[in-house]
Amino acid sequence: MKILVVNAGSSSLKYQLFDMDTNTAIAKGNCERIGIDGVVTHKCPGKEDYKTSADFPDHRAAIECVLGLLTDEKLGVIGSVKEIAAVGHRFAHGGEKLRASTVLGPDEVAYLESIAELNPLHGPPAISGFKACKEVMPDIKHVGVFDTSYYSNMKEEAYVYPIPYELYEEYKIRRYGFHGTSHRYVAAKAAEMLGKKDAKIITCHLGNGSSITATVNGKAIDTSMGFTPQDGVPMGTRSGALDPTVPMYIMKKKGLTAEEVEKVLNNQSGLLGVSGVSSDCRDVAKAAASGNARAALALKILVHNIKKIIGSYIAEMNGVDAVVFTAGIGENDRAMRENVCEGMDWLGIAIDKEINNTCERGVDVDISAKGAKVKTFVIPTNEEYMIALDTQNLTK
Ligand code: AMP
Repeated sequence: MKILVVNAGSSSLKYQLFDMDTNTAIAKGNCERIGIDGVVTHKCPGKEDYKTSADFPDHRAAIECVLGLLTDEKLGVIGSVKEIAAVGHRFAHGGEKLRASTVLGPDEVAYLESIAELNPLHGPPAISGFKACKEVMPDIKHVGVFDTSYYSNMKEEAYVYPIPYELYEEYKIRRYGFHGTSHRYVAAKAAEMLGKKDAKIITCHLGNGSSITATVNGKAIDTSMGFTPQDGVPMGTRSGALDPTVPMYIMKKKGLTAEEVEKVLNNQSGLLGVSGVSSDCRDVAKAAASGNARAALALKILVHNIKKIIGSYIAEMNGVDAVVFTAGIGENDRAMRENVCEGMDWLGIAIDKEINNTCERGVDVDISAKGAKVKTFVIPTNEEYMIALDTQNLTK
């Protein structure tokens, strides 16, 4: 069974084609600069990577280009589009109603359109990508997989903000959480590695965007991102959690509008804002190593906040079986993992520095110190596979 996974953004359409008999991606690529001067990259294991400029004015033209590549005699991996059994679509936001992955019909699409305001950056392009795929492949099922749905079992006290309750009722202002598909994937892997289904797991998805999630028995009970992905730990360019009056104070002091201060907190803060060097953790670490004090401070702030959230989730869960590191920083930055785990032995968290420093990249690894009460794992995330799996389960 072949499943196509599509992740449509405002000017891009990423895709992966999975062979679910072998659980592997047999082709992947990205149509970028849709509506501008298109470029497509296409990769298949065992074949040379392909990259070319292409003319796609919209998502429909982009998906037609993808299907052309997948069935191309030289570059392709399938004989006909008919081999694609179903398509899985990534949505960042499923609102309060789409609480699990689902086959997308008119009602679901109307609901997604109604909540676009909650997710103005990613919602409308994802809907447009879905519509284009549905037009081009009308006879197969299209499944929506929502980053927020992993959090649909959180208790009210974890998702209702302590502001006037009417604001939640009227505007649906609450904690939604994001990166759910990634946290779901790595938490399930960790439970498998522990051999314990009802495990208490803290997953740290640390990348350009970062979030931390607490999972008990396969269900998320709390997460650091909130109403938007702006909450929680500091990120590449996002501030993460702040005293709520800080934005208003900046507005008054600098004479900025709400949109302008949003830009400051979204695009000019985090690692970039503190270091003044870069939003990329590698650049910041390099600058810190060469004596840049603000770069070193940016990294310390990140570590400090990750620790704080891990600690609070251990309190919430009354313990933890495993801490997991994933995404760009979590999977690759050995120093960050060591610094986060430093001084947490009282909680049972301790890593083997040698293993942490030498372990292979791209594979699941147990980096715990011998005898540590809590396991620490590095698990490469695979959101696309999770989307393919949900799509398969809903269309079998
Ligand atoms: P992501 O958003 O998951 O792609 O992660 C991007 C972040 O991962 C950036 O801050 C990168 O600096 C960081 N990253 C990627 N590769 C490495 C690496 N080899 N060492 C340290 N950080 C890395």
